[in-house]
Amino acid sequence: MNRPYNFSAGPAAIPVEVLNRAGSEIADWHGTGVGVMEMSHRGASFGDILATTTAAIRDVLSVPEDFDILFMQGGGLAQNAIVPMNLCGTAGAAKMDVAVTGSWSQKSRAEAQRYADVHVVFDGKPLNFQDVADPATWSIRSDTNYVHVCSNETIHGVEFASLPDLKALGCAAPLVVDCSSHIASRPIQWHRIGMAFAGAQKNLGPAGVTLVFVRRDLQEQAMGICPSAFHYKTVAANQSMFNTPPTYGIYMIGLVFEWLQAQGGIASIEARNIEKAELLYRTIDTSNFYSNAVAPAFRSRMNVPFLLADETLNDTFLNEAKAANLLSLKGHKSVGGMRASLYNAIPLAGVEALVDFMRHFERTH
Ligand SMILES: *Cc1c(COP(=O)(O)O)cnc(C)c1O
Repeated sequence: MNRPYNFSAGPAAIPVEVLNRAGSEIADWHGTGVGVMEMSHRGASFGDILATTTAAIRDVLSVPEDFDILFMQGGGLAQNAIVPMNLCGTAGAAKMDVAVTGSWSQKSRAEAQRYADVHVVFDGKPLNFQDVADPATWSIRSDTNYVHVCSNETIHGVEFASLPDLKALGCAAPLVVDCSSHIASRPIQWHRIGMAFAGAQKNLGPAGVTLVFVRRDLQEQAMGICPSAFHYKTVAANQSMFNTPPTYGIYMIGLVFEWLQAQGGIASIEARNIEKAELLYRTIDTSNFYSNAVAPAFRSRMNVPFLLADETLNDTFLNEAKAANLLSLKGHKSVGGMRASLYNAIPLAGVEALVDFMRHFERTH
């Protein structure tokens, strides 16, 4: 089987060991004679899968006991509506504050406007989303229901190495984090977070599951209009089975977390991700042929956008890359150029193959 390196931003590469294991179990899970897709979500077998998966997530990501782990549907974009509906129902006006650091937080801002009064505490647009101001300079409202950040902007390649510490800034509101595209790539600063969410299709498995983490004390402030299936307290009280959960996706996430445990957990994965990202950024920075303009402190380890100095070579670059078994390197249309997504499933050897190709391409063009 030819498995080229797949640098897709999402849905993205899944470790081949996980795919092979899922393949071997597809028609018969653990001798039951039934595949996971065909099982009742209320039966003992799926009950096992759900419990094991939740425990593995709690273990690998060190999720504190006062957070519920929920499996929802609708992806990251649905959470842009689900979060305000769950957090803005306390007495007084519904208010959310947001740092706009790229395309994804821009979308969060637009969607929240349907449910809450929105205030932008920082707007990175004048900086072309290539840098983020110190959170101490953000104009956070003292009576906001929450502050939203996207901790890794998948399109602009902007990542918070450290999350804003709202408490230290004198803000009592919870921090809400869209960590869709770098979850499980590094440790999570839970003590700074009230709730976090991540679509699965970047670093956790197939599309169709949204992993949601909500502190229990934040589950009492939903708006009356919040649909029951999206009401965190209801979903938590029913162990993510208020309605039929995305069973196969949850099973796949379970296999990915087992794989993460076998890799040595988050510390080893993070070390590998640092090495991968450093190698690619070093290759870009030491050439006049390639460039990345994101401020070094905010460069993403997971999504690396880069431009060719001569943009007329873009198609040639992509065609030759494909012929060299390097797939899905085209940048997002809003940014142009190239983007290499270096999620957990991309081994160091994949990045070595990419930089070898880039140096070769530079020499021959
Ligand atoms: C991909 C992505 C999303 C969107 O997820 P959907 O599943 O398409 O709704 C949201 N936020 C970030 C940071 C993403 O990378």
